[in-house]
Amino acid sequence: MSLVEHHPKNPTARGPAEWFTGDVFIDTIARGHGDTPLSVAHVHFTLGARTAWHSHKAGQTLYVTEGEGRVQARGGPVAVIRPGEVVVTAPGEWHWHGAAPGHLMTHLAVSEGDATWGEHVSDTEYLADPP
Ligand code: MN
Repeated sequence: MSLVEHHPKNPTARGPAEWFTGDVFIDTIARGHGDTPLSVAHVHFTLGARTAWHSHKAGQTLYVTEGEGRVQARGGPVAVIRPGEVVVTAPGEWHWHGAAPGHLMTHLAVSEGDATWGEHVSDTEYLADPP
């Protein structure tokens, strides 16, 4: 019996328009099972693309691998995120993340449990200058 499972690459999925603004491409790496299943995905945001406002039942960790991005928690300032940086979102905290204006951004997303999705991030919110 092999101790290693070698899976072929899944096709890249397009991020659904209900959950994202702009063109987003998702490579799912791992998907778990249970009450708060762990999922790992490599998420590619094109210029201007971002998630809608959302929260994760058991939190999320992002690891930026390419480009320049933006992240914002509800009620907080927009923050710049760059490769090598880690963003930890607490369970139930409303936030969005995406590419910085004029840049691509790719991150690994390690999420636990379902996400709850809200309204799209407006251009006014998206284009706010980081402090
Ligand atoms: Mn998130």
